[in-house]
Amino acid sequence: MTAMDNRIGCPICDAIYTLSPEQARGATRCRQCGYRLTLGRGAAIARVVGVSITNLALMSLVIFMPFLDLRAGTFHNRASVFDAILGFSEGIMVPLSIAVLGFILVLPLSRFLLLIYALGPVLMGWRNFPQAQLALRWSFLLKPWAMAEIFMVGVAVALVKLAGMATISVGPAFWAFAAVVALNVYKDTFMCRNTLWTAIDTNT
Ligand SMILES: [Zn+2]
Repeated sequence: MTAMDNRIGCPICDAIYTLSPEQARGATRCRQCGYRLTLGRGAAIARVVGVSITNLALMSLVIFMPFLDLRAGTFHNRASVFDAILGFSEGIMVPLSIAVLGFILVLPLSRFLLLIYALGPVLMGWRNFPQAQLALRWSFLLKPWAMAEIFMVGVAVALVKLAGMATISVGPAFWAFAAVVALNVYKDTFMCRNTLWTAIDTNT
């Protein structure tokens, strides 16, 4: 690792610091403004793994609980996320629906599992599982493709548009999904690549 790799900038006041590997592993604050530059290895990994496990549990709620409940006159329909995505797909739209399902459910779920697989042993003080580095690499590679939040924006727009035509109530899966999106944003704020890679590489 070169000195350049250990440079870190404060996002608040733009001060630049060069951290030694020992410093980068611990918790550091900006000398000028007090902003927390690195979280410290133990805390960062505990939060990434903890949030991933929470999200995994919430995702299972999303899959099995009702997502939306529509009422218009005598018409009443209770839809899960699967129904919402696949319900409107016919003919040429089927591949698109399957892609959407992949982007909003399968990929986010895979990311949580990969992170738990790669970092769980570090947290527990065990040896790395086989191919832990590969699992961590894939969790970073998949990040731009996991689009649960974009789906939620789409659902919000649809709810506003449909509000005049039908009575819509949101089910438990809707709130679980919203929580997954919020927790994921929170998790990504302390997913420092430098910290996670050194944690895995030095865990033997
Ligand atoms: Zn600062």
